[in-house]
Amino acid sequence: MPSLVLPTASFSTKLSHRHHSTIPSASHSRRPHLAGDPPRTVVITSGKGGVGKTTATANLSASLARLGFRVTSIDADAGLRNLDLLLGLENRIHYTASEVFSGECRLDQALVRDRRFNNLRLLCLSKPRSKLPLSFGSKTITYLVDALKTLEPENPVQFILIDCPAGVDAGFVTAIAPADEAILVTTPDITALRDADRVAGLLECDGIKDIKIIVNRVRADLVRGEDMMSPLDVQEMLGLPLLGAIPEDAEVIRSTNRGSPLVLNDPPAPAGIAFEQAAWRLVEGDTMTAVALEEADRPSKKGFGWFSFFGR
Ligand code: ADP
Ligand code: MG
Repeated sequence: MPSLVLPTASFSTKLSHRHHSTIPSASHSRRPHLAGDPPRTVVITSGKGGVGKTTATANLSASLARLGFRVTSIDADAGLRNLDLLLGLENRIHYTASEVFSGECRLDQALVRDRRFNNLRLLCLSKPRSKLPLSFGSKTITYLVDALKTLEPENPVQFILIDCPAGVDAGFVTAIAPADEAILVTTPDITALRDADRVAGLLECDGIKDIKIIVNRVRADLVRGEDMMSPLDVQEMLGLPLLGAIPEDAEVIRSTNRGSPLVLNDPPAPAGIAFEQAAWRLVEGDTMTAVALEEADRPSKKGFGWFSFFGR
């Protein structure tokens, strides 16, 4: 198993100005304290497509697994399934939840064990290009998640992460049904924000009160030029706590193509560090009140350009 990467306690709340102070290092011995009652079921949702839900699910899953938590990630985006690709598990899927319900296999047989972490499992709802049965709705997925929670009484799962499809129709309603918490992923643009706002309202109507946001694809140069909203602007507009601010980073695409979540990169990439920090905050029930972002792929004359903006 790859070594643990343990950020310092100051990660989540203090503002750091220097590159090295934010790089997770194996020399830190602190472990995150698990807040809330496990198993925690968290849906990763957005409204708008292409904003980074699956990327966030893959990276949070890998971070949590590396921190030692037992994680099951559910790809509930049955139509455009790709969490398996991001985790590099596409060739290992023999059964999915559809086969469980049709009686072809047991639930444990549909759980795909990660190659790197044996405490990380992936569950897909259906095989690629095959549609979910129409009867697969909120009740079915809730039943499935309840079964996951009790599957291994000796080693019960601690986090169930659900990668939600885009939109607010049946697939969305199904994906959010078993969740107690939600992570709303948005990019800092007005269309994604409008969708995120709508989704936040729908989540609340569904009884999900614990909603945090991840602002993805932030470009410090654009924020500085006031051509892009800052993560704290987004937080204020949505009125929800900020779990993470992820910079635009070309490494995200490279790691997607490799089937290895970015948080596992060595040396760490800026977006990977930001996802790792978000995973720590998720575990500890913490949020961000200040953000320091690195310009991932735009080195300035002085080297990496740092841009800091302050919160409360
Ligand atoms: P969703 O699941 O919301 O549809 P994805 O996670 O599939 O979105 O991401 C959509 C695209 O955006 C992918 O090509 C992904 O590699 C890219 N992407 C996501 N986050 C970042 C980032 N921080 N920097 C650069 N590219 C990103
Ligand atoms: Mg997706």
